Amino acid sequence: MSFVSEFNSLPLDALVKKSLATGTAAARETLGRSNLSLADFAALISPAAGELLETMGRRAHAMTQQRFGKTIRMFAPLYLSNECVNNCSYCGFSRDNPILRVTLSLDEVRQEAQALKEQGFRNILLVAGEHPKFVSNGYMRDCIAALHEDWPSVSLEVGPMETEDYRPLVAAGADGLVVYQETYDRAVYAEMHTAGPKQNFDWRLETPERAYAAGFRRLGISPLYGLADWRFEALSVAAHADYLLRHCWKAALTISTVRIRPCAGEFEPITHIRDRELAQLICALRLMFPDAGISLSTRETPKLRDGLIPLGITMMSAGARTEPGGYTGAGREKIHHTERGIIKELASGASEWAPQEKRPTNATGQFNIGDERPPQEVAEQIRRLGYEPVWKDWDAALTM
Ligand code: SF4
Repeated sequence: MSFVSEFNSLPLDALVKKSLATGTAAARETLGRSNLSLADFAALISPAAGELLETMGRRAHAMTQQRFGKTIRMFAPLYLSNECVNNCSYCGFSRDNPILRVTLSLDEVRQEAQALKEQGFRNILLVAGEHPKFVSNGYMRDCIAALHEDWPSVSLEVGPMETEDYRPLVAAGADGLVVYQETYDRAVYAEMHTAGPKQNFDWRLETPERAYAAGFRRLGISPLYGLADWRFEALSVAAHADYLLRHCWKAALTISTVRIRPCAGEFEPITHIRDRELAQLICALRLMFPDAGISLSTRETPKLRDGLIPLGITMMSAGARTEPGGYTGAGREKIHHTERGIIKELASGASEWAPQEKRPTNATGQFNIGDERPPQEVAEQIRRLGYEPVWKDWDAALTM
């Protein structure tokens, strides 16, 4: 049975109600338990448990250190393309947004990767919009093969594929797959996704299972907080994580905690999860899933990121750019303009091509970054907090 069947039978609305009605005594009692159920998780994300955040934080901190030591795994996204056939209301790359787009060539991908390598990174996340013409399976395979030798860990965040289409990517050297469900609320999902293959909720929900069947050994999941009620999303991703830990147990699972950021299209979040609630959610995820990775992106501000580290974070990006060519300006001369998905030629010498201050390229990014500190500054701060930034934690030679 796939997670879709299990998900369809979950009493999620009732669990949200239960969470909101949890009293302080029940929340305190749940905090003392081990082997938590989804109902216990509902208590941990309750307003009542929010009053016990200090206690939760201490437990989450101790549990993280026990399982992961004092380490933070560092990674960087490398955007390959911002072409996309989907319309997702919350994303700058949406098909109908009139933005500046580009798809990097293999040489340009190598150039961007080299810049990240010089900054110290050895774990890379290849990100691309969903566009079969520009971001074909063959193109993805070639990008992975081009980087595999130099990069001990290559993960992907690209449009979902069939299991058989994933296999050549694993064979080429990809070991991780990240797929955000965006929202687990079917009605909100339908509202947010108005064009393209991403409209298929169930297909997306089953993606981690297909990726696992194809041989990926790192899986990443998350909702995008800001679309539906955050407790509903948290309960759903917890149920999803629980399923994957039972059924895809050979894979290392990482749960992200991403919130909507400003982007082209000027989408405004529909719901809000406050900073304090985000901290509570991270603690609750840690207590529920002692061995799962928890990832924190540069969507958050430096101050908040620094404060969240001791609560259960095991993985962080740093110095991230969300536009293809953002690290070196690679592909700058190929940037084109689109209007409702159709390439429009600009008059030669148009100033739109020119890089802006502090940016090597003018391709449009997926969203605005919240923490713009360079990687070494983030690493230094991680050390100041008593943790070791880990740039490389795997080598393909270990599998031989
Ligand atoms: S979220 Fe992904 S699929 Fe949707 S528009 Fe952005 S890049 Fe395309």
